[in-house]
Amino acid sequence: MRYVSTRGAAPDLGFGDVLLEGLATDGGLYVPEAWPALPVVDHTQAYATAAVEVMWPFVAGSIELEDFAAIVEDAYATFRPPAGAEPDVVPVVDLGDGLWLAELYWGPTLAFKDIALQLVGRLFDHELERRGERITIVGATSGDTGSAAIDACRDRSHLDIFILHPAGRTSEVQRRQMTTVDAPNVHNVAVEGTFDDCQDIVKALFADEGFRREQSLSAVNSINWARVMAQIVYYVTAARAVAHRSGRRSDDPVSYCVPTGNFGNIFAGWGAMRMGLAVDQLVVASNTNDILTRFFTTGTMDVHGVTPTLSPSMDIQVSSNLERLLFEMNGRDGAAIAELMARFRGEGTVSVPTEQLAWLSERFDAGRLDDEACLRVMGERYRRSGVLLDPHTAVGVGVAESVHRDPDVPMICLGTAHPAKFPDAVEQATGVRPPLPEHLADLFERTERYVTLPASVDAVRDHVRRHVTAA
Ligand SMILES: *Cc1c(COP(=O)(O)O)cnc(C)c1O
Repeated sequence: MRYVSTRGAAPDLGFGDVLLEGLATDGGLYVPEAWPALPVVDHTQAYATAAVEVMWPFVAGSIELEDFAAIVEDAYATFRPPAGAEPDVVPVVDLGDGLWLAELYWGPTLAFKDIALQLVGRLFDHELERRGERITIVGATSGDTGSAAIDACRDRSHLDIFILHPAGRTSEVQRRQMTTVDAPNVHNVAVEGTFDDCQDIVKALFADEGFRREQSLSAVNSINWARVMAQIVYYVTAARAVAHRSGRRSDDPVSYCVPTGNFGNIFAGWGAMRMGLAVDQLVVASNTNDILTRFFTTGTMDVHGVTPTLSPSMDIQVSSNLERLLFEMNGRDGAAIAELMARFRGEGTVSVPTEQLAWLSERFDAGRLDDEACLRVMGERYRRSGVLLDPHTAVGVGVAESVHRDPDVPMICLGTAHPAKFPDAVEQATGVRPPLPEHLADLFERTERYVTLPASVDAVRDHVRRHVTAA
């Protein structure tokens, strides 16, 4: 499989290069040159087995099947769904009224990002080992992605990871999920400043050509193709499980409602559909930061400021992965996308013609839910059936309740975070403070490891130089 850039002016690459490079040299995102056909997956298969089958066409030629299968197996063995939950790794729960919940949050850090990152961390290490290279990953976090990235990279021998968080400005659970990881290649830095300061420092380090080359700096951000690839799998396994449990044929269509930020998760659903999965509707669920919902309903994308909400992982200004869908919509015309993105960057707004809006609305629906409605959904679901939803998942469930849908088609809501990850919001809505699952129950007793540094590029650069371990 070869990969092409959405802006059409970067070299085609194989999977190994796409994995390590992330962004294409023309500023575009990599997509497979053609969508492979979906292999046969049935509801009795273990998640890891289905995952190898679904992803194999994307990686074939860059890794041995046996190695790939072992990596996938190892990645998903880190998941701890409750005893008796089915299917394994990503269990599916019947919410009633044709709605289902796919629980993507039983990984080490209780958010769906673990599904992609547990795999990507191991693939990075394997590819670096093969090349005899090492890298240094540097990133900034306001709380959530940092912990998933750290857990995915811990104990990998060919990389170090440095994650900057704003000192005193993350929740205690979030900080502890990062700082209690005891691995020599994991480096937590509390920066005396804001999240924006952290991001500015990371940007400055990447812009320092000499340092970038010296350390082989890398990122594990959400534009990496391998993350999208890993997310295609659960669309397939959830569809098979719901078909089986509701006595339908395995190829009867289902719909999905996806709490969306950077558009990575829902684009994976679109990929599954392109591979042949029978999908009726893909529903984009936004919180108050609804740039995507406005785009899918009006055809105009324009940037507003970001308002903090109860679902912070969806508090975005621009959705980077949307570019992959725009590329497909434009008949894979890279030059058109380069022009469109330049216009968007310059003017902060861009509109697509009516026929393209029709193309979008044939495939996608969209809705938004503000915090007040989100709390109401959490409260109602708990009182009605004892289900605790985190605020991100609740945005999806609330939008699924309100969007127009075919009553004969099951709608699968993607559960993107465990309720215990956002205990304050859950308690506010339901009166119940959700306990951490057993494997994290002693989180507050574990030893924390981090250094505190001033918000200075020099201080952080110096710290990285002195603490890299990978050889
Ligand atoms: C990252 C995240 C999202 C948004 O996912 P995208 O792939 O960026 O659309 C939603 N919910 C939670 C809990 C997340 O961590």
